[in-house]
Amino acid sequence: MNNIDILIPVCNEQDNVKPVIQKIHSSLSGSFNNINVIFIDDGSTDNTSEVISNLKKESESLNIKLVKLTTNFGKDLAIKCGMDYSSADLCAIIDGDLQQPPEKIIEASNLIKQGYNVVHIEKKAYKNARIFRRVGTFFFTKFISFLFGGVFHLTDYKVIDSKTVGMIKLFKEVNFFNRGIVELIGLKSIVIYYNPLRRIHGESKYSFFNALKLAINSSISVSLKPLRISIYFGFIISAISFIFGLFILYQKIFIGVPILGFATIALATIFLGGIQLICLGVISEYLGKTFIESKNRPQYMIDYIKEI
Ligand code: UDP
Ligand code: MG
Repeated sequence: MNNIDILIPVCNEQDNVKPVIQKIHSSLSGSFNNINVIFIDDGSTDNTSEVISNLKKESESLNIKLVKLTTNFGKDLAIKCGMDYSSADLCAIIDGDLQQPPEKIIEASNLIKQGYNVVHIEKKAYKNARIFRRVGTFFFTKFISFLFGGVFHLTDYKVIDSKTVGMIKLFKEVNFFNRGIVELIGLKSIVIYYNPLRRIHGESKYSFFNALKLAINSSISVSLKPLRISIYFGFIISAISFIFGLFILYQKIFIGVPILGFATIALATIFLGGIQLICLGVISEYLGKTFIESKNRPQYMIDYIKEI
């Protein structure tokens, strides 16, 4: 078990690809017979592909392949594309920005040799991240675990065996959420931890709105619970309004207090309007996703593939 495919989705990482390869070479070369680095260029608008094409082979056992996608399909579909081209015994997925130390792949591969199918490599600390991101990640991890109905590992940095890769290849959906699918498959997994490093070149692609979009897409992809929550909302609000109605009647009949006026009605209308729009939004998200999936479009499109 000494061949490994290392999948690296990259989008505008022109200054990072060279140091990434050097780091992979220096930290992993002694531990594997064959290392196949597969860069998936996810629609970069800078010179990422050119820089990759001009990389020098660091050694005979380190092969580099570039799969250039026609446009930006998102990190998850870039990973899926890489998996479709993975054939080694082991497959690692790592970011192309040097924030994740590649040495952890050795520890993870040893665990796979011991019989695990998936090793999640999770961040130990979020010290370097901004506060809204830390809080957001914390709550999103809780929320998605609730939706999924079990422990959920919110890291993309993983090492998985060929059996798991084979299963992931079967998933043809466009709203592809890799982490959710790995959890869904449910093979034997274990978690190890790494200390995240600071990004030196380029910047994170996940602005607040990108992160929110990803959160909504991934929630929808792992579960139907948001639809059920809408029904519960309906039940709870109906129950509250029924009790409130009884209360007003009681006041009117037994105490003689006049029925409350404009403010109550306005508040109730606006509140209900808000809830209705949220529920409609949830339904629309599922409906929209169903529409897109029903077209059966390809998950990604490749411009060209190049062996370096
Ligand atoms: N990435 C990608 N497509 C995208 C966004 C990001 O392939 O649409 C890649 C990016 O180049 C990097 C990895 O995914 O290699 C992680 O992205 P980033 O560092 O922006 O995310 P963060 O570390 O902030 O979560
Ligand atoms: Mg990063």
